Amino acid sequence: MSDDPVRRQGPPEERRRQRFISKSSAVSLKYLRRVEELPHMPEALTPFLHILGHVFVEQGGAVKPEHIPTVGTYCVMVPPELIYAAGAMPVKLCGGSYTAFNIGDDVAPRDACPLVKAVMGFETVGAAPVYRECAMIAVPVTCDCKKKLAGYLGERRPTVALHVPSGRDRDEDMERFVEELYAFGAKLTELTGAPLSYERLSWACGLTAAAQYELSRFITLRRKAPLVIKGTHYMAAMNAMSYTHISLWTRHMRALCDELEQRIRNGEMASKENRPRILVTGSPIVFPNFKLPLLIEEMGGALVADETCMGERGAYDPPAIVDQSTDGILRALANRSTRPCTCPTFVDNKRRLYRIRQMIEDYRVEGVIYHVLRGCLVYDYEYRAMEEELGKLGVPIIRVESDYNEEDVEQLRIRIEAFVELIKYGKR
Ligand code: SF4
Ligand code: SF4
Repeated sequence: MSDDPVRRQGPPEERRRQRFISKSSAVSLKYLRRVEELPHMPEALTPFLHILGHVFVEQGGAVKPEHIPTVGTYCVMVPPELIYAAGAMPVKLCGGSYTAFNIGDDVAPRDACPLVKAVMGFETVGAAPVYRECAMIAVPVTCDCKKKLAGYLGERRPTVALHVPSGRDRDEDMERFVEELYAFGAKLTELTGAPLSYERLSWACGLTAAAQYELSRFITLRRKAPLVIKGTHYMAAMNAMSYTHISLWTRHMRALCDELEQRIRNGEMASKENRPRILVTGSPIVFPNFKLPLLIEEMGGALVADETCMGERGAYDPPAIVDQSTDGILRALANRSTRPCTCPTFVDNKRRLYRIRQMIEDYRVEGVIYHVLRGCLVYDYEYRAMEEELGKLGVPIIRVESDYNEEDVEQLRIRIEAFVELIKYGKR
């Protein structure tokens, strides 16, 4: 071993990596504790928090059977069924880390969104096994940030850029996306050696259908008033899905639904008071960037619903398979992944307004918080239309812009508190 104290500590990159690991673990632990400390946490939420703790605090890999390789994805528009059918497991890698964001901030242009900066930060520093262990990465080319991310990752890792159509109502658009899925399927087969047969694809559709069944139970339970589970707890369970093999996540979700149903039978609700019922929509909210849901609940709001792609949008209904063949399943997956999607990266997005109106009714929403990650233009563009629509319905809405740091927490706190008070005042 070297006598030189500097050399003994390892090269500067290694020291930087170690600093990164300890800082990012500490931040994740802090947010995990805050989620745990919220009152009325169901016991069955514990496995979901263990998964987040394992990945972000202990810096472990994805939670899965050992022999299965992982494929990193960056969007709900990459069908997980294809990856499971090829004998791999998808891991959703959209980054929520403040520590990785700070590193990515030096790599990406100033106005890039923090989510993409965080991904670039993880890649640059070479930490976080959940990122490092991915045998392949699939980046959907949706917004400009994702496009450049595909290029950045493509220079460093085996990466597939998945071209998602910007419209989805014309047959030609759908045909092009089906071709993309075929090409992606071929890359997956190269990786695992497993051809995408009809049998494998239907088996994988069965896996996701079981998860969707439990999720639909959960959504029904969430619509209860008063609330049976806090919104932040719900978001933690949904975030954990990104890093867990789907059969395991389904099992945990089943146990959570069973516990919540028992709570209802016992008359134990998570929020007995008449708290303003709030829906969150907008840019993705990825753990550990949980400052917004935590603030809503700490400031006296009831976070009853979230229309983000880390929430309900991530688990639509199972694909509607008309033609029982490999091609039929691929077409059904292409349809399911894009047609109902309310992501603003599509040219026409009336679906989102419709979806929000429907959620306001289903969840008896009294106010909407519109979350814009700084630099996320696609969501920002749609704010005006949303504001107009909600104005017609008489539902208050605020736009909150945030970044991946804690400097804006006090400002967000003041605005959210005022919004919650405004709803309360309107109810008097
Ligand atoms: S916001 Fe849109 S493009 Fe981004 S991950 Fe979600 S669904 Fe995909
Ligand atoms: S949709 Fe928004 S948050 Fe997602 S990658 Fe694009 S700019 Fe970033």
